[in-house]
Amino acid sequence: MALPSCKKYDCLVIGAGIQGSFTAYHLAKNKKKTLLLEQFPLPHSRGSSHGQTRIIRRAYVEDFYTKMMEESYQLWAELERDSGTTLCRKTGAVFFAKAGNQEFEATCRTMQQNQIPCEYLSWEQMKQKYPGFSLNPDEVACTDLTAGVLYADKALRAVQETFQRMGGVILDGQKVMHIKPGPVVTVTTTSSVYEAERLVITAGPWAQKVLRPLSLELPLKTLKINVCYWKEKIPGRSGILQDFPCFLSTQSNGEHEIYGLPSKEYPGLVKICYHHGNEADPEQRDLQATKPQIQDIRILCNFISHYLPSLHPEPAVIEQCMYTNTPDRNFILDRHPLHKNIIIGAGFSGHGFKLSPVVGKILSELSIGEHLRYDLEPFRISRFKNQLKSAL
Ligand SMILES: Cc1cc2nc3c(=O)[nH]c(=O)nc-3n(C[C@H](O)[C@H](O)[C@H](O)COP(=O)(O)OP(=O)(O)OC[C@H]3O[C@@H](n4cnc5c(N)ncnc54)[C@H](O)[C@@H]3O)c2cc1C
Repeated sequence: MALPSCKKYDCLVIGAGIQGSFTAYHLAKNKKKTLLLEQFPLPHSRGSSHGQTRIIRRAYVEDFYTKMMEESYQLWAELERDSGTTLCRKTGAVFFAKAGNQEFEATCRTMQQNQIPCEYLSWEQMKQKYPGFSLNPDEVACTDLTAGVLYADKALRAVQETFQRMGGVILDGQKVMHIKPGPVVTVTTTSSVYEAERLVITAGPWAQKVLRPLSLELPLKTLKINVCYWKEKIPGRSGILQDFPCFLSTQSNGEHEIYGLPSKEYPGLVKICYHHGNEADPEQRDLQATKPQIQDIRILCNFISHYLPSLHPEPAVIEQCMYTNTPDRNFILDRHPLHKNIIIGAGFSGHGFKLSPVVGKILSELSIGEHLRYDLEPFRISRFKNQLKSAL
């Protein structure tokens, strides 16, 4: 069968998750004729960007993320204005851990150094402020008062619609099957062929599958995350769901990280998840839970019984999502080592949503060759030079 005639763009972006959508949006803002390609019919829930909520916060161990969040908050506000949609709600995010926990202390230090409004709470003050939480006497808390909830599905829709209003094109249901590098990159999908001088790959958990034929094997791990929702033992009795903040807890010296946020998905439930999962191919994500995955949920049940005793310690709903982790959990934002007009955004390691407006801007700047405003050293592919399996 003859392939349809080739379509030419300034830039192609593969993957219409939140990172690819924001990259396409910034490219279109820069007057680039941009095509965003997505393998599944949109919207879909097979990758990492679906669901109604994500935590947004400035508190980070790493100073560079806190600095990037400054611009990210501005860009979220800009998208809210452009789209006429409310995308964030401030709730605060409570961090708690055993006193002296290194990660907790580093996060507090970053907040102080960057003058982020925050509030320190002893376990007793925690009980007064958030009666639903029951911390141990040797634990401490600190609230990032600027943090809150991002309305993820709404945000994805808003950025895609704004991109299209600026003249951008989204073609969904078109899986990219082949990429021919060169000064002009040719991309063949399941139904057509496209050309552009620049390509950005933001394929989420499929990044490895897309990059392997381009002789690049990054040390990425794709994890299946069980997204759990919990209800009160006696609905309405404890008051825990009113003013429920976002929270992040580091247990046993960083071994278990658990986070929670008010659920918009299911009124009357809160979303509390384990920040780890079992390795899984994204194509196999929705097959039945295996035993080790149930182990994740056991950890959560024990956590809830101990720290949030007014919640029923069995999840009311379990859904699935994917993380794509790098060994150091920092993102990959870089050029392909062999093909300088192919840009890669990958490895968002379960914390990329809040930063996606800045990530998209950086990827678009890398693609266009504009002056970069951030030090991209922490995000370079070369930091994995001893772990790259490909012969680069
Ligand atoms: C349970 C959960 C909770 C999270 N909580 C937070 C949080 O609180 N705060 C936060 O900041 N972040 C959070 N994250 C992380 C954040 O959601 C992700 O970092 C982000 O969504 C990653 O987006 P992405 O665009 O890289 O990936 P994806 O959303 O997976 O997008 C990649 C897209 O590429 C498409 N694609 C792949 N291959 C092809 C191909 N060959 N052809 C065409 N299209 C292709 C896929 O179909 C997909 O749509 C969470 C993630 C999960 C799973």
